[in-house]
Amino acid sequence: MPDTTGDIAESHAVPALCANIIGGKIHSEGERIPVICPETEEVVTHAVEADEETLDLAVTTAGNAFEDGAWSRAPMEHRQQVLERIADLIEKHQEELAWLETLNIGSPIRQSETRHVTRAVLNFRFFAEYISQASGDAYSQQADYLTFVTREPVGVAALIGPWNAPIALTTMKIAGAIAFGNSCVVKPSEISPLTAFRVTQLIHEAGVPDGVVNLVNGRGATTGAALSSHNGIDRLSFTGGTATGRAIMAAAGANLVPVTLELGGKSANIIFDDADYERALDGSLMGIFSNNGQQCLAGSRILVQRSIFDRFVADFVSRTKNLRIGSSFDRRTEIGPLATKSHFERVLSFTDLAREEGCEILTGGGRVEGFSKGYFFEPTVAVTPRNDLRICQEEIFGPFATIQVFDTAEEAWRIANESEFGLVSYVWTSSLDNATAAHKAIKAGIVLINTPIVRELRAPFGGFKESGVGAEGGAACEAFYTEQKTTVIPVAKPPLAKLGSDAS
Ligand code: NAD
Repeated sequence: MPDTTGDIAESHAVPALCANIIGGKIHSEGERIPVICPETEEVVTHAVEADEETLDLAVTTAGNAFEDGAWSRAPMEHRQQVLERIADLIEKHQEELAWLETLNIGSPIRQSETRHVTRAVLNFRFFAEYISQASGDAYSQQADYLTFVTREPVGVAALIGPWNAPIALTTMKIAGAIAFGNSCVVKPSEISPLTAFRVTQLIHEAGVPDGVVNLVNGRGATTGAALSSHNGIDRLSFTGGTATGRAIMAAAGANLVPVTLELGGKSANIIFDDADYERALDGSLMGIFSNNGQQCLAGSRILVQRSIFDRFVADFVSRTKNLRIGSSFDRRTEIGPLATKSHFERVLSFTDLAREEGCEILTGGGRVEGFSKGYFFEPTVAVTPRNDLRICQEEIFGPFATIQVFDTAEEAWRIANESEFGLVSYVWTSSLDNATAAHKAIKAGIVLINTPIVRELRAPFGGFKESGVGAEGGAACEAFYTEQKTTVIPVAKPPLAKLGSDAS
């Protein structure tokens, strides 16, 4: 039986309805989508789906707010203060927001508190600081002319997010978009609307003018598709699956709307025999099992050098069997339920596939016993003979690691790159040669050497290949959410041709 004697997080009120918020007003008309807690399988509230008309109102409202200028032309210092206030409010509501996130997606409460909500606070603080430091360019090389380049907000940003880390990822988009003066229409996943609803309320409480941040709920095929094809949007930032990203880019492309796409991953986690063994073991467990394995940057393909392979596999499996599976509201829990029933079934289907493909499952592979409710999937480790199998190529998005042996660094790079994805790669080594070779050889947007994920907001975060288009981060968001304007002024009176006069 699961042990539930730990420190259980205090419960909080669930919004009676996750309505749409447009122009600062609640819009509660529309189809109701049940919001289900993955641990109890109970409906905890409903989201209101924005139909095409409501969605159109949200985009128009965002456009009007942008033109009105109360935010888009507000002094930088004012925007900075309001962004800081949002961060303060999220911090003040940290326990509530973490609890809602856990209730909605099943992420262990300690991870919701210390990673997801903490990151949301940081997102607003980071952009508050960033905008005060941003600078433009000036060119004076051309005699008699001064040319300078400034940046302006673009207008309305459509922000579409996934369910796996809603508050952390959605606030990155909102903070990045509004910091530079834009308005936005935010569409969280229909699976996970809870924290976006509360954060949108807090954003208004902090003093962002009505109409600058508008929230629409709804399914991808309806609200999401209507938003991405709307001709009133000026930018589209999306985080989610690769197939969805393809559809969204095509829809936005028809209106020449630039996109950033943060998509799927199947990241290699390479462990050399000269690595700091304990840190590599700890980091590899974190890499695949954090957030119940539901992370784009999961180090899901573990590659281990032959001389330490047997030892590493034994230790990794032993630690995996020891993971504390339980209620996500228990602060000691390390693995909670998967986010939805259909996702549970999808992850489970990879167990049969792994066996069919000749992998040996060393632990896990099924439903966790002892829970009468909840989508609890056992942390799973499979040894794989080859990398070209579906189990090594498809994103499972659950606590499911494959482990494969390698001999040489060149072989490790080849296996790491043998993927349609290219989001992240982890390398554990004490050799400078291996580290620098990894930096050069690996085709991924982020290469992490001797560390699990560290998010440096100043640096771009984005994938190569089918893991994404564009990136998020300080300068990357500034480039995406602003237009550059080049202005030329003569500083002397250079001669002009006198067309139409006798002197011409
Ligand atoms: P998803 O693609 O199913 O949905 C993401 C969002 O897109 C949701 O809000 C959904 O409603 C919307 N959507 C779906 N179809 C749409 C359409 N046709 N038009 C417009 N919007 C549509 O993804 P998910 O299952 O919510 O999230 C998991 C995926 O997200 C994984 O592949 C994961 O790797 C990826 N992800 C990537 C990153 C990253 O930074 N690269 C971060 C987190 C998650």
